[in-house]
Amino acid sequence: MGSSITTLGELKRALSTPASGLRRRTVKDEVRDNLITKLRAGDTLFPGIIGFEETVIPQLINAILSRHHFILLGLRGQAKSRIARGLMDLLDDTIPIVPGCEIHDDPLEPLCAGCRARIATEGDKLPIAWLPRDLRFVEKLATPDVTIADMVGDIDPIKAARAGLGLSDELTIHYGLLPRANRGIFAINELPDLAGKIQVGMFNILQEGDIQIKGYPVRLRLDVLMVFTANPEDYTARGKIITPLKDRIGSEIRTHYPLTREHAMAITEQEAWLDRHADGRELEIPAYVREIVEEIAFLARAERKIDKRSGVSQRMPITCLENATSNAERRALVADENPVVPRVTDIYAAIPSLTGKFELEYEGELRGADNVARDLIRAAVGAVFAERFDRVETRRVIEWFDMGGTLRIEDTSSAAQLLKQARCVQGLVELAEHLGLKTDAPPPVLASAVDFILEGLYAQKKITRNEERGYHAAEPQPRRTTRQTETSLDDGAPLPSTGKKKYYN
Ligand SMILES: [Zn+2]
Repeated sequence: MGSSITTLGELKRALSTPASGLRRRTVKDEVRDNLITKLRAGDTLFPGIIGFEETVIPQLINAILSRHHFILLGLRGQAKSRIARGLMDLLDDTIPIVPGCEIHDDPLEPLCAGCRARIATEGDKLPIAWLPRDLRFVEKLATPDVTIADMVGDIDPIKAARAGLGLSDELTIHYGLLPRANRGIFAINELPDLAGKIQVGMFNILQEGDIQIKGYPVRLRLDVLMVFTANPEDYTARGKIITPLKDRIGSEIRTHYPLTREHAMAITEQEAWLDRHADGRELEIPAYVREIVEEIAFLARAERKIDKRSGVSQRMPITCLENATSNAERRALVADENPVVPRVTDIYAAIPSLTGKFELEYEGELRGADNVARDLIRAAVGAVFAERFDRVETRRVIEWFDMGGTLRIEDTSSAAQLLKQARCVQGLVELAEHLGLKTDAPPPVLASAVDFILEGLYAQKKITRNEERGYHAAEPQPRRTTRQTETSLDDGAPLPSTGKKKYYN
């Protein structure tokens, strides 16, 4: 639009010609105008934000139309930062600035003394630079050690001495993040972690355009759209946010975790790194594996052993699916199988990607993070299995185990090894038909289905499994040791497993 304009004189002419399409306006007006254009055109607003279409996004639109500074209140992993970054799409492609100015001054109304001095000497010949929108978004994670100098700025006595200026002159200010966000969007994440003194400083800038730095009054009439994020409990806790600042935040918008498994799966599909072709292999993730991974997060959010206040991020299913896929890749590479098909067993192997994603309550601490994760996986498998095998007759398979049959399968067992054992169990492989599979499906696909069925029966306590991954009859049937395997692994030496897993039963 304006990149052909290179001087202040040309800029002034273009602004006085309506056909140029160039307008001077505040950031809030610019964002509002561009939002209106998108709404009129029926464009997708906030692309990539899934499941907020009817809840968060309408409130967001209202806040922008109202020209509000606003805060997103939500737990971790609810796309708050992503929404804030998405606001960038509502900025103009470029805006004219005084080149080299740290606070991106408007050439027609510069704030800083340096720019004003340049205009006084250069006049209409002053060169104009064009600032792209991605440089107009500043983001800061609030922590208690953030200072006024970081956020607003500091007086630089050396600079002042060199310039021969008084300390209160603006030329002596070393600008902090907020002035550097001038004419753009400034996002502060976890606002309640910001010291009260800094909150006061920010309020003064928003309200009056004045601030004191080291006792010197500084005028900074900044043009910024402020977006904050916070954990809802921290935000509403008394004394965490100074009242006048809270009063200046126009809208409080609550975010949430995906409301449906479909939304959750769509988010994970979008975010997880699954576009891999290990040594040219195809990746085929069964729907039930994707469903179980999401179900783990849904159950974790409702689990009383897990701290509700900090939440369970949507990053949990994302990293879990990535890690489970890697375990499947590892097996496929060693066994030279194609396609790579993750199994339920691979989800258990992905426990290291789960345990860091939740904070435990006291009861959870007693149980231990690994066991809590394992319990969640088992419950998730049980829930998804129940949906798929609700009215399916599995008695024949269970009877086989009741008769004393055992299977010994590891997460490293190849599809051939697994299926060879599974075929000894009358009716087991055939159950895969209820997952839409024919018994001549590719072995890795069929093996994953069989693994799901075994894990499902185990989750429903119809068969049992011990720490050596043997499946056998459920209690109260007499326990048999898995070492008395009816079928043994004879296809080469066993591969290294993901570690010693203590399975409860
Ligand atoms: Zn300037």
